[in-house]
Amino acid sequence: MAEPPPDAFIACPRTRALWDADPEIADLIAKEERYECDTIRLIPSENYASMAVLAATGSIFANKYSEGYASKRYYEGQIYVDQVEKLAIARACALFGAAHANVQPYSGSPANMAACFAVLKPNDTVMGLALPFGGHLTHGWNVNFSGILYRAVQYELDPQTHRIDMDKVRDAARRERPKAIFCGGTAYPRLWDFAAFRSIADEVGAVLIADIAHIAGLVAAGAHPSPVPHAQIVTTTTHKTLRGPRGAMILCTEELAKAVDRAVFPTLQGGPHNHTTAAIAVALKEAATPEFRAYGHHVVANAKALAAALAARGYRLVSGGTDNHLLLIDLSDRPYTGKDGAQALSRAGLVGNYNTVPFDTRKPFNPSGIRLGTPAVTSRGMKEEHMEAIAAWIDAVLSNIGDAERIAAIKEEVREFCGGFPTPGVLIGNDWSPLP
Ligand SMILES: *Cc1c(COP(=O)(O)O)cnc(C)c1O
Repeated sequence: MAEPPPDAFIACPRTRALWDADPEIADLIAKEERYECDTIRLIPSENYASMAVLAATGSIFANKYSEGYASKRYYEGQIYVDQVEKLAIARACALFGAAHANVQPYSGSPANMAACFAVLKPNDTVMGLALPFGGHLTHGWNVNFSGILYRAVQYELDPQTHRIDMDKVRDAARRERPKAIFCGGTAYPRLWDFAAFRSIADEVGAVLIADIAHIAGLVAAGAHPSPVPHAQIVTTTTHKTLRGPRGAMILCTEELAKAVDRAVFPTLQGGPHNHTTAAIAVALKEAATPEFRAYGHHVVANAKALAAALAARGYRLVSGGTDNHLLLIDLSDRPYTGKDGAQALSRAGLVGNYNTVPFDTRKPFNPSGIRLGTPAVTSRGMKEEHMEAIAAWIDAVLSNIGDAERIAAIKEEVREFCGGFPTPGVLIGNDWSPLP
């Protein structure tokens, strides 16, 4: 059953109230805090939002209903909600240099659905990077709405370089005449050439949709080129490298503003999550600081350092390395799979995820890759020299994959190491007594 509440939970009136009302859930939150403090989080889509972002997320704006848009609502009582949404929009436009922003999509997938609804009719052709090559479900994968409502065409990576072959994308676009082309992905470690994608889209009369869910924070920091001058629509989550709450935004040109807004509401959604909008505004303010610029560049420097340290230990990396926040270890030459590897790493407190590699010969549920990223560890203040230590632990785990004792010992080393890096957003800090 539930343990006694940690002191920090008693000190905060909100967590105190939660502990009194529901000790089981409060206890699980405390345990998750411990877990996020004591492990090295290497899932590239995860991060730590600041205490300020979490405070706005947990605020009473969750109580409000406000269908519509600022100053055009279907409910009374929107004095403060309107100001919150206008601030979020103004900050999004300023940070990314966009003409228009919609901050209401509930998450990244609904944002992509809205982008499609804004520019496509059912059975139109949509093109995107195939899921097993690092694309996203919503870019035309067959089990997703994008592959069900539309005629989906998928591009792949070059078998030698593991990079996008723009000549092949151009050939496919000329042949298939898509109405919309997605660029962006979840497991692509290289830069996106948004200008080249736009020239292909223009040639075939398609709208370019850049999905920067993973790299939005890098774009905001100037650590990855921006799609905004090139793509008519840019979609992004707000909770990955951008370090905001779980949510999403759509940036677009003035010409598409009405169609995008209409697609989000009333076509796909009802009332916006105003507590999320408030937290997005906070995250956008944080992302406009010099500290965040430095953070974004450090995420990339750390990913490059981790990639180099793993390559030096004999690990093959998809495309040979990284330009962004993530890398993929290719274990197709090893006797164990990516799943075996990711599970062993997780037992040692090194939390990543298994993933397909390009042209994977194993099955998607047990593929050959491990996907790792540096956004979360960089948020804790880890630097290049710490990536060397992380690579050494990864190598020690993967070289001793069946040795439970060795892995337990590494978990203890990892926990101790983590104590040296404060965890943003947690109440208990790193000094709460360890779980039994
Ligand atoms: C994460 C992600 C999404 C989806 O976001 P959800 O919030 O999980 O729906 C969409 N596109 C890309 C490229 C992503 O990485």
